Amino acid sequence: MPASRLTGIRPTVFAEMSALAARTGSVNLGQGFPDEDGPADVLAAAVAAVTGGANQYPPGIGIPALRAAVAEHQHRHYGLEVDPDTEVAVTTGCTEGIAAALLGLVEPGDEVVVLEPYYDSYLAMLQMAGGVRRPVTLRAPDFRIDLDELRAAVTPRTRFVLLNSPHNPTGTVLTRAELEAVAALAVEHDLTVITDEVYEHLVFDDAGWPGHVPIATLPGMAERTLTLSSVGKSYSLTGWKVGWASGPARLVSDLVAAKQWLTYTSGAPLQPAVAHALTAHPDYPAALAAELQGKRDLLVSGLNAAGLPTTLPQGTYFATSDVSGLGWEDGMAFCLALPERAGVVAIPEQVFYDDPRGPGRHLVRWAFCKRPEVLREAVGRLSAADLTGG
Ligand code: GLN
Repeated sequence: MPASRLTGIRPTVFAEMSALAARTGSVNLGQGFPDEDGPADVLAAAVAAVTGGANQYPPGIGIPALRAAVAEHQHRHYGLEVDPDTEVAVTTGCTEGIAAALLGLVEPGDEVVVLEPYYDSYLAMLQMAGGVRRPVTLRAPDFRIDLDELRAAVTPRTRFVLLNSPHNPTGTVLTRAELEAVAALAVEHDLTVITDEVYEHLVFDDAGWPGHVPIATLPGMAERTLTLSSVGKSYSLTGWKVGWASGPARLVSDLVAAKQWLTYTSGAPLQPAVAHALTAHPDYPAALAAELQGKRDLLVSGLNAAGLPTTLPQGTYFATSDVSGLGWEDGMAFCLALPERAGVVAIPEQVFYDDPRGPGRHLVRWAFCKRPEVLREAVGRLSAADLTGG
């Protein structure tokens, strides 16, 4: 049994479902990782860094070239000014960024408003940090923020909002009005916003104007927002585990205070390659998003045709279906039966809710960051299968 700080935290569903896919030879639309790697010259830059001697500990906050590239990225895409020496830190993926932010900033007992369903590491790390989560639920089928519920979630003990937009697993991209509501609460109650924006570039052109808006760009927010992102989703390099934090020096340095004891430093030869990706290929993520949009449409129309009502996501590479109409007790039962029924693996979303029998009980997530032939194969299998429950 792990220590009590992990009590009640189930093993990550992504590993469980990827193992199930491997064991059953299923098409894996569960864990979100692309089946094609990012730009060839970025891969080559990593090889060159390995053979060129970039193999010993880099600075804990990251190499200067990558911090400069992150600062330039924030400026180029969003007009945000961050000092690469004091307002940027490199992390081992965004997952470490979340861990270090929560461990470095949250006092035990602090309340943290968080969008539910939440990515599983938020739950685990909030609990390990002693934070108290105050969920605001995005409800099917359109998964918008209920602004009354948002306001009601803030109490005198609230100190943080842990935001995620574009949102995993629902694919919601928060609108400017939703972000303004969060910002107004943050200013009024002096809250710090920690925002996971790893899907920042994976937004579709029908998401509605103006697409993804970093909350740090709203008035009064830059000074109270710690923004987290990574190379993984934007450049199809999820296994590199290179991420970054940017924001006010005091927030970045509190994150680094925890990060130094977690990993000390991150992936020496990958850092110059990621700096190269950001500076040499600033438009790559937009092209990736355009390509993903076609894959999204292929999968979502296929799922709907197969009898799985599916919400059209505005961003990320995930789509959500409701399996209640097929007669399943819950999404977990559906996902566990799916390899045998259809040879496909998906993620039950109920594990991302406080109450697994609550509003996410019958929701299932599919990843569409796969080659079109893989998506067509999955959709073909699902259409041919008997998907009725019981
Ligand atoms: N972020 C990826 C997803 O949501 C998986 C990450 C993981 O396996 N921890 O599918």
